[in-house]
Amino acid sequence: MKEQYVVKILEIKQLTHDVRSYRVEKPAGYTFIPGQATEVSINKSEWSGERRPFTFTSLNDEESLEFTIKSYASHNGVTNALMQLQVGDSLVIHDVWGAIAYNGEGYFIAGGAGITPFIAILRDLKRQGKLGGNKLFFSSKTAKDVILESELKELLGDNAVFVLSDTASEGYVNGYINEDFLREHVSDFTKHFYICGPDPMIAAISETLEKLGAKPEAVVFEK
Ligand SMILES: Cc1cc2nc3c(=O)[nH]c(=O)nc-3n(C[C@H](O)[C@H](O)[C@H](O)COP(=O)(O)OP(=O)(O)OC[C@H]3O[C@@H](n4cnc5c(N)ncnc54)[C@H](O)[C@@H]3O)c2cc1C
Repeated sequence: MKEQYVVKILEIKQLTHDVRSYRVEKPAGYTFIPGQATEVSINKSEWSGERRPFTFTSLNDEESLEFTIKSYASHNGVTNALMQLQVGDSLVIHDVWGAIAYNGEGYFIAGGAGITPFIAILRDLKRQGKLGGNKLFFSSKTAKDVILESELKELLGDNAVFVLSDTASEGYVNGYINEDFLREHVSDFTKHFYICGPDPMIAAISETLEKLGAKPEAVVFEK
């Protein structure tokens, strides 16, 4: 594969107040597996060289690529600038690299935008008819921050548990994914555990899981 590709934005969807999905052109011969990511930059001179990693949420056999990106309006970074882009603008994408890969049935634990590799993996499992007994624990701050809630419910039914850390709302678990939560919701700690989210969350959950006998695989999204 070439080192970098300029790809036009074909479609943008607003998923939550600060998350949008970006459908972009897919370069010929560009291939990836669910859970993989690439570095993306904005194709404008003032942003050249500012690369940030994002995960494909589309599947490899689709004609275009999709990214699902949370923007941080609090500082003038790439994700804030992405929020200003429109259909017809372009991005620069680079080589594909592994972030987290599915190795068998188990538990997916995501915080915020850390859901993105699992969106790709779960969409792929659904297509293969292999969602099986996989479970998702998805932590967000409030109900309005939950990314793709209805699709995740459709994919997993009662095997998707939505946790809100900052507010109590009906239909959600209020609090944190901590030892009590894991003891209540996990029936088999020998299964696979895939964790993705902000650093403090991953550190805390990995430590607890290890204490409970699990061997978690994790990707840190934010320091
Ligand atoms: C393998 C991988 C895949 C990823 N995939 C996705 C994805 O699919 N979707 C997605 O939304 N994200 C994803 N991320 C996270 C994404 O890369 C970051 O959110 C992004 O790089 C932030 O870029 P930025 O320029 O906006 O922020 P930067 O300026 O690069 O800041 C990076 C981080 O520093 C902190 N920070 C820095 N300055 C400030 C400030 N002034 N105020 C507050 N906080 C500050 C923030 O926590 C921020 O996340 C992924 C990360 C990795 C490692």
